[in-house]
Amino acid sequence: LWRFWGPLSALSKVYSQVLSAMASAERIFEILDTEPEVKDRRDAKDMKRIRGEVVFEDVSFRYGEEKPDVLHGVNLRIRPGQRVALVGPTGAGKSTIVNLLMRFYDATGGRILIDGQDVKAVTLESLRRQMGIVLQDSFIFSGTIEDNLRYGNEDASDEALRLAAESVRIDKFAAQFPDGFGTQVEERGSKLSVGQRQLLAFGRVLLSDPRILILDEATSSVDTETEQHIQAALQTVLEGRTAFIIAHRLSTIRDADVILVVKDGRIAEQGSHEELLQQGGLYKKLYLTQYDMQQSLAMQTGA
Ligand code: ADP
Repeated sequence: LWRFWGPLSALSKVYSQVLSAMASAERIFEILDTEPEVKDRRDAKDMKRIRGEVVFEDVSFRYGEEKPDVLHGVNLRIRPGQRVALVGPTGAGKSTIVNLLMRFYDATGGRILIDGQDVKAVTLESLRRQMGIVLQDSFIFSGTIEDNLRYGNEDASDEALRLAAESVRIDKFAAQFPDGFGTQVEERGSKLSVGQRQLLAFGRVLLSDPRILILDEATSSVDTETEQHIQAALQTVLEGRTAFIIAHRLSTIRDADVILVVKDGRIAEQGSHEELLQQGGLYKKLYLTQYDMQQSLAMQTGA
């Protein structure tokens, strides 16, 4: 059986060692300073301020001329503010769907529309400015905790910064250091735990306030207290945004408005948790397997 909710490395593959979490996808390229594969069309227009509707029309994709198609006629219609959980085996195409949405690659067939605007017809800068990404292991820049937050929005006022920090509970852990927000963090993030780095990434998202959020849910275990902070912060961060979550936690999947079960480059099933259970297909089978596993694990550990 494939690992339905197992860790997903493919998203990180694309951004490789570069960055693991950013508020603004566009900044990846600022920092990377590399020639992106996808370029603005000569007649590209600025994408208007979006509400966050996402439509895939018969989208297909392959990673190179000689390569096989990895997406086959994907159709999606996601309303603004919906939470979408992508689940399915490794290699199914979950990261590819997200990569196309952010235009790290261009679809080879079909169209992707955000609020009715074809992503290929708008500038990358204006597209990515309206998207946020939080990956599993959040990237930390050298500088202070405050500097790291400000990456979300350099023009943020001190008040906005303080509010964002509070909302995602960064203020609490910053206060543990003598220099508070002014504490220097190492690029490798040595002073900060994985969980704390993720909270920082959430803080950046609040400050940059994108309408679409891409999230690769963390799988690594963090202590219970940080985990509670992360779950609370996650709710705040998701609020009012269209979110595509490569989901690993059952609770996240169950709470999603739409679950996309991706298999072999196709959307095998889509619907809410209840709908998919009622359909009695692949999702149900996987859910029950996973549920059984968690139950027996919980019994073994007495949790
Ligand atoms: P998932 O996120 O569900 O694990 P992916 O979208 O990463 O799946 O992968 C879908 C398919 O595309 C897989 O067969 C994978 O090997 C292939 N693939 C992913 N990224 C690349 C790449 N950069 N170059 C070539 N093939 C890739």
